Amino acid sequence: MTQPLPEATVASRLAAIRQQIADAAATSGRAPDAVTLVAVAKTFPAEAVLEALAAGQRHFGENRVQEGMAKYPALRQAHPDLVLHLIGPLQTNKVKQAVAHFDVIHTLDRDSLATELAREFEKSGRRLPCFVQVNTGEEPQKAGCAPQEADAFIAACRALDLPVAGLMCIPPAEEEPAPHFALLNKIAKRNGLDQLSMGMSSDFETAVMLGATHVRVGSAIFGGRSYPPAQ
Ligand SMILES: *Cc1c(COP(=O)(O)O)cnc(C)c1O
Repeated sequence: MTQPLPEATVASRLAAIRQQIADAAATSGRAPDAVTLVAVAKTFPAEAVLEALAAGQRHFGENRVQEGMAKYPALRQAHPDLVLHLIGPLQTNKVKQAVAHFDVIHTLDRDSLATELAREFEKSGRRLPCFVQVNTGEEPQKAGCAPQEADAFIAACRALDLPVAGLMCIPPAEEEPAPHFALLNKIAKRNGLDQLSMGMSSDFETAVMLGATHVRVGSAIFGGRSYPPAQ
């Protein structure tokens, strides 16, 4: 008789994913702590985030500014070392709120946003590390600068004195992700950037093997989302 598996919890899923990340890192000759696991809690309530916090998780991702503002201030009181990553598109009229409530921006993708972030960093005295989002699949509906414009855009961000930490991508859902991760890595290298935000629930191990320093994992930790998040 086989024993029924114990019901997966946020803690047990986190432990399994951390192990998978460590294994993928080891396979490619990298240290396990070279990869930051960003737990994407969008659409899930604060209780789910609390479960992850109890399991030692500190980096969280949200794709909407409003949801981040609503969920995290209370959680930060108890966990001042919580790090909140904005992984969704950022409208220029939300920059002030995003800079006040988030710690890392993964979706810097156009001149108007770069200008507005530079202005807000100057005004607020908060300078958040930024990832430049590259639309590696050149999908018209998707955010991110075009791969062939990335070098110029990174230079423009640096000219504005933005702290560009690295690059981020979301490969097309229906394609092999590996070539997209490799392309992002290549663009980062030639621009002297060493951080890569890439890999989600279905492909984070591949991403780690191709150099990811930040994987953004949601459903594999928190379960299926009951309603689709806004893009
Ligand atoms: C939702 C989201 C993720 C996590 O996706 P899962 O497939 O649930 O792991 C990662 N990155 C971005 C930009 C997202 O919006």
